[in-house]
Amino acid sequence: MEPRPSHGAYRYKRRNPNPRSQLYFVAQGMSKAALEHYHYLCASIQGKFVLSNYIPMDMGDGQIFHQHGLDFSPYTEYELRPIVSKKALQRPIGTYHPDELKLYHEYFANDWMHSAGGILHNMKDRREFFNCILNYHSPAKTTGNEEWDAFFEKFKESGFQKSLVPCMHFGNPMGCLVDDCPFLHDEEMLRERRDRILAARKKALFEPTPKQRLEYAQKYESMNRGRNTSTSPSAAMNGLSLEGSGAPRVRHFCAKEECAKPWLAKDKGDHVLQKCARCQWTYYCSITCQKADWPRHKSECAPAEEVIANDNLWTSIGTRKGTDGVDTEWRRAVFGI
Ligand SMILES: [Zn+2]
Ligand SMILES: [Zn+2]
Ligand SMILES: [Zn+2]
Repeated sequence: MEPRPSHGAYRYKRRNPNPRSQLYFVAQGMSKAALEHYHYLCASIQGKFVLSNYIPMDMGDGQIFHQHGLDFSPYTEYELRPIVSKKALQRPIGTYHPDELKLYHEYFANDWMHSAGGILHNMKDRREFFNCILNYHSPAKTTGNEEWDAFFEKFKESGFQKSLVPCMHFGNPMGCLVDDCPFLHDEEMLRERRDRILAARKKALFEPTPKQRLEYAQKYESMNRGRNTSTSPSAAMNGLSLEGSGAPRVRHFCAKEECAKPWLAKDKGDHVLQKCARCQWTYYCSITCQKADWPRHKSECAPAEEVIANDNLWTSIGTRKGTDGVDTEWRRAVFGI
């Protein structure tokens, strides 16, 4: 039995599991997945696919995107199953709006799993990935990202060398279990990417959460307009954008939800709120609020570095789990996450 490692202990490690261990089967699965994704990538870059089974968007049916299939039968090097992808509105000449592509690439860069897994992982989000690919094969001739475009050229020139493609497993908490993995293991590049993700988490941890901002904006709204705002998801999203326009900037809120006393950025002098002495990143207006909130807070009260490093506590888009305040089902439908 291998000792149970702390989370992420095998990140950036190449491992060589014993063929009789269960990990060996996991390794075989990893190897197969990487190879398959590699071939989807090669086929995509060469345009060796045809679009099929177009299903237009139907809001009444809850289908908020156009759908189409990608049939890879023109690619003969490896047997690739057809897949279904979601298509955003393509413009008449077959291109996508550059801002839309930019959003996809920002998502790939800021989502920790995409950032660690690189392009072989990126294609798991088919809508984002294949819309970039369709744009690459349109008159616009770009994926919307210079780095990708440059990589595609280099990759083609090399005759599709696997050693140029970042391994999709090496940057993950389990590391790469494939002992003869042919893909690129670039620890330095992955560490740089992860540092950016951790810096963003740090910022998020020491600032009010989206949920706190949202509730404050709603309270502020109803106070100033003399009406109650609903808590529907769309109102919630409006709420998120309200803060900048009307409500004053808040440094911290009392973490006891029912209190949520704000410490405004413009407040001078004495600290309005005090830090929890143990974790140093949670604030309270009084001992009473701190005590009352302890049953909730005790499960998350840990030093900032520990909280920041633990992927299990964070959503892929960089908010701490349970603090975003936006209905997840609705968000899943809109953002596909
Ligand atoms: Zn690998
Ligand atoms: Zn309080
Ligand atoms: Zn604490």
